Amino acid sequence: MPGLFGLLSCLLLVAEAVDPYERAREEMVNTQIVGEGIRDQAVINAMRTVKRHLFVPESLVPRAYEDGPLPIGHGQTISQPFIVAYMTELLRIKPGSKVLEIGTGSGYQAAILACLTHEVYSVEIIEELGEAARKRLQALGFRNVRLAVADGYYGWEAYAPYDAIIVTAATEYIPPPLIRQLKEGGRMVIPVGSPFIVQTLMLVEKRGSKVYTRNVLPVRFVPLRRGS
Ligand code: SAH
Repeated sequence: MPGLFGLLSCLLLVAEAVDPYERAREEMVNTQIVGEGIRDQAVINAMRTVKRHLFVPESLVPRAYEDGPLPIGHGQTISQPFIVAYMTELLRIKPGSKVLEIGTGSGYQAAILACLTHEVYSVEIIEELGEAARKRLQALGFRNVRLAVADGYYGWEAYAPYDAIIVTAATEYIPPPLIRQLKEGGRMVIPVGSPFIVQTLMLVEKRGSKVYTRNVLPVRFVPLRRGS
């Protein structure tokens, strides 16, 4: 049961003895997550459990629990903690949900997802980032995350359809392959808009073979690149 190992690794992360950032993380959850309106207890627990400081470059470790995005190399960023929690909450993930992430980056969002369900798939276009995330998630014991280096515009056909899809880079329009790979009744969150200006976080729902979209929040993400 690979899923069981993944959820178990969350518990092991909690149990690990010395953590100099435990208080900083608790403070982050109280002020930036609960304090800003996140209500889903499973999401809150995941944010409390996953050690964000293990997902940022060494020089930025002391800033890992600040209220903002941080650079992770190759011109990319790990999203602000609130945005990670907010997008995750919108997906309404249940323990059996199959989830696809586009834009693995550091692997932090994937780790949060892996605390909520047994099956997480994540695609990253920059090979060095994808490989670093793979090593990091393996070392932390997340056996329920499967990673690929590819152009996430096309989703990940092999494991489709997905109950939930989360895109962590901005696109001008919602990639049709992602809509196709969303399960009936499934939910997708995706920042839509032009690069480098304010974009709109959209919630996409597929119901009765119809696609419904709703704008939920102005956001700013790095652009989705094309061609791996
Ligand atoms: N979710 C990440 C942050 C992502 S930043 C985290 O938790 O750290 C956006 C990421 O999307 C970057 O790593 C970038 O390289 C990746 N990306 C950009 N275009 C992509 C594409 N077409 N397919 C897959 N990944 C892409």
